[in-house]
Amino acid sequence: MRKLRMFVRHFLSFLVLTTALARSLRAQNPPDWTEPFPPHRVIANVYYVGSRGLASYLIATPKGHILINSSMESNVQMIAESIEKLGFHFVDVKILLISHAHWDHCAGSALLKKLTGAKYMVMDGDVPVVESGGKEDFQYGNTPKNLYEPAKVDRVLHDGEEVKLGNAVLVAHKTPGHTKGCTTWTMKVADGGKKYDVVIVGSPNVNPGYKLVNNANYPQIAQDYEQMFRVLNALPCDAFLGAHGDYYGIAEKAARLKEGGPNPFIDPQGYKNYVADREQAFRAELKKQQENR
Ligand SMILES: [Zn+2]
Repeated sequence: MRKLRMFVRHFLSFLVLTTALARSLRAQNPPDWTEPFPPHRVIANVYYVGSRGLASYLIATPKGHILINSSMESNVQMIAESIEKLGFHFVDVKILLISHAHWDHCAGSALLKKLTGAKYMVMDGDVPVVESGGKEDFQYGNTPKNLYEPAKVDRVLHDGEEVKLGNAVLVAHKTPGHTKGCTTWTMKVADGGKKYDVVIVGSPNVNPGYKLVNNANYPQIAQDYEQMFRVLNALPCDAFLGAHGDYYGIAEKAARLKEGGPNPFIDPQGYKNYVADREQAFRAELKKQQENR
C-alpha cells in the first residue's frame, strides 16, 4: 500500500513536470501571435487583417488585393476570416508580400499560395530563405521550430521596385539587418481629400543572440543595420505601421479608432520616436559587442 502511494505520488509529480514541459514548449511563441484581433480599416484602402501580435495588411483594389504577411500557417485561416469580415474575398488576394523572411511573417506563405493562387514577391536577400523554408536563414537556419514549408517566389524584388495592382502602388525599400532582405513597404494614399504617406516598417530590431561583430554567416550585418536606419530616417511618414502591431501601439490606436475623431494611425511623431528609439538600441548593442570582442 505504501509502495502504491509512493508510486502514485511519483507518477503525479511526473505528470506535473511533463505538463509543464509541454506548456513551455507551446509557449515558445508569444500567445498573442495566434490571438484574433478585430480587422479594421487603417486608412484609404489599407486594412488590418492580422492577429493581435502578428500584423497582416490587405491593400484592397478593384482588380484584386495585395496581402502583406501570411504569418504562421496556423494564422492563415484567421487572416481569411478577417478579410471576409471586412466584405472582401480571400480568393481575390492576387499578390503576397512579406515584411521579412522570419517564420512569424512568412511560414504560412506556401499554404496561402495554394489556397489563393497569389503571386509571391520577395526582396532579393530573403528569397533563398523563404525558398528553403528558413534553412538559409543566417541565425535560425538550424533551429527546427523556426523552419516551415518552403514557398516558391514568383518575382524577385530589388530595392526601390514597385508592386502595382489596380490603383495601388507599393514601393519595396530594402531595409536589411534583421534579415538580409527585410523590406519596408511604403505607399501614397488619398483619404478624405488629403494625401498621406503610409510606411509599414519591416523590422529595425536586433534579436537576442544576433552577432553584430564577426558574424561569419552575415559579415556586413552592422553596415546593413546602418543602411536600414538611413532609409527609415529619410522616409516621409504620416500613417505609421509595422510587421508587429506593438511597433506602433496597435491596441491603443485601434481602441481610439472606435471613439471616432482624427485617424489615430496618422502618427508622424510616433514613427520618428520609434525609429530613434530602435536606432539607439542598435547602437548600444553594437557598442557592447565591440567592447566585449
Ligand atoms: Zn523577425
